[in-house]
Amino acid sequence: MKKQLRPTVSTREIYDGIISGEILSLSRAITLTESQKASDQIKADRLLMQLLPRTGNSIRIGITGSPGVGKSTFIEAFGKHLTSLGKKIAVMAIDPSSEKTKGSILGDKTRMAELATDPLAFIRPSATQNSLGGVAEKTRESILLCEAAGFDVILVETVGVGQSETAVRNLVDFFLLLQLAGAGDELQGIKKGIMEMADGVVITKADGENEKKAKLAQVQFQHALHLFQPSDADWRPKVLITSAAQHKGMAEVWKMIEDYKVHTQQNHFFNKNREQQKLIWFHERMESMLRKKIFESGRIASKITLMEQKIKQGQLVPSAAAKELLKLV
Ligand code: GDP
Repeated sequence: MKKQLRPTVSTREIYDGIISGEILSLSRAITLTESQKASDQIKADRLLMQLLPRTGNSIRIGITGSPGVGKSTFIEAFGKHLTSLGKKIAVMAIDPSSEKTKGSILGDKTRMAELATDPLAFIRPSATQNSLGGVAEKTRESILLCEAAGFDVILVETVGVGQSETAVRNLVDFFLLLQLAGAGDELQGIKKGIMEMADGVVITKADGENEKKAKLAQVQFQHALHLFQPSDADWRPKVLITSAAQHKGMAEVWKMIEDYKVHTQQNHFFNKNREQQKLIWFHERMESMLRKKIFESGRIASKITLMEQKIKQGQLVPSAAAKELLKLV
């Protein structure tokens, strides 16, 4: 079957669509940023530059937790709570099926079925390939595009696997950790240093027989959090209990995040943190582009192979080789 070519849409049209809040244009723009094609990347950069003055007006929330902790159920209940308040919410979701099916959109539509049909919500699943716990390389760009399209709250979902937390922490204003009561997660979280990064902890599935355990875990977590130094935000992380299944605790979670925003805006941490994050983004991108440039150059690659041989045979000192190589860049 012959593949149907989509008509080319100009960046002007995409720009106009985004600023009038059109989801189709937003999706197109995100696809452009994710494209590997050089011409698409130029377009995406131009678009982002034009939209930059319209960005920054959302609260960006990272949501992390082990598989099965209840992330998608929580995001759906929390998202519905926010849309009931009239907020437009965008979810950068993990697509659990992406590894098998190479990016199925259906994966997340069924995970968050109710939210997916809400006119105030936009769900963008990201493939987990080549990314940390589901955080796509271009999540930063997606956040800015969603903001330009008028979204008030951006939720970035990630699976709790080591490094991904740091990656998400560098993208968001508020970092929320979901935990199960009595699953032995308490100590694990502390060991990984994840709890130190959290601005808030939510104990999930606090319903039925689990409710008592959840309340106990809340006290334990709050104690554990007191052992940490206050963060740069001068904010004491809170521990809340929720039942997404019964839509309980959502207003409290939102209040905690709003309180955090007020607190950090007053002490100027909010903006300082965002400035810092922009610099981290710049440095990360610069490093990855430099690395790409080095390894994609055939001349340099063959030089590297040659040097590796000499290094192995003890004929060349690695630091001297690295210096010599840099001269070729
Ligand atoms: P994820 O892997 O972290 O996204 O977790 P899911 O949201 O898919 O939830 C995992 C399982 O826990 C599912 O079977 C859910 O139905 C169940 N679950 C999620 N939230 C709740 C809750 O608030 N209460 C109860 N009882 N079960 C829940």
